[in-house]
Amino acid sequence: MIDQLLSGNVKFRETTFKQNHERYSELAKGQKPSVLWIGCSDSRIQTGHITNAAPGVLFIQRNIGNVAPVYDWNFATVLEYALKHLKVQHIVICGHSDCGAIKALDKDLDDHYIPLWLNNATEAKQRVDAKIKKPVTPAEAKERSTMIEQENVRLQIEHLKKYPLVKTALAKKEITVHGLYYDLETGALSKIV
Ligand SMILES: [Zn+2]
Repeated sequence: MIDQLLSGNVKFRETTFKQNHERYSELAKGQKPSVLWIGCSDSRIQTGHITNAAPGVLFIQRNIGNVAPVYDWNFATVLEYALKHLKVQHIVICGHSDCGAIKALDKDLDDHYIPLWLNNATEAKQRVDAKIKKPVTPAEAKERSTMIEQENVRLQIEHLKKYPLVKTALAKKEITVHGLYYDLETGALSKIV
């Protein structure tokens, strides 16, 4: 598999890299992304591809369930660097359909770390379940999952806004926060917040 990736890189260098030589030379000197993108680690979503964004535009933090944990050094560091040093103008939290993290909220896992991490998203499930009737048909179950995936985006935006850095940047109107949702079946990315 790794050989396949390496030969893929040879192909990339011979085609895309060569064809956009100027752009890549510019990028080799530094970055100035305008968007901090917080998305799920899911392998089916290639952020640059689904947005048609050129390299250098998106500063990306991906984790399980596209969460913005409140007490997390990794996340806080990404946030601090993106806001204070890169001075991004937008923060995106992007959820998606068929999200394994959201499905896992219904399971009793005996893993060491996953349940702890998913505590960051539990409230999204609780909010939706308090609002709807227990799903009976597969279509209703799917609808419930979609609602939780989208509520999770709203919840993570709330978490994000708890960071003083974000609060200040919002008050000074230096950044805008957006909630997006990607549908794997249609390839459509839509704004939900
Ligand atoms: Zn996911």
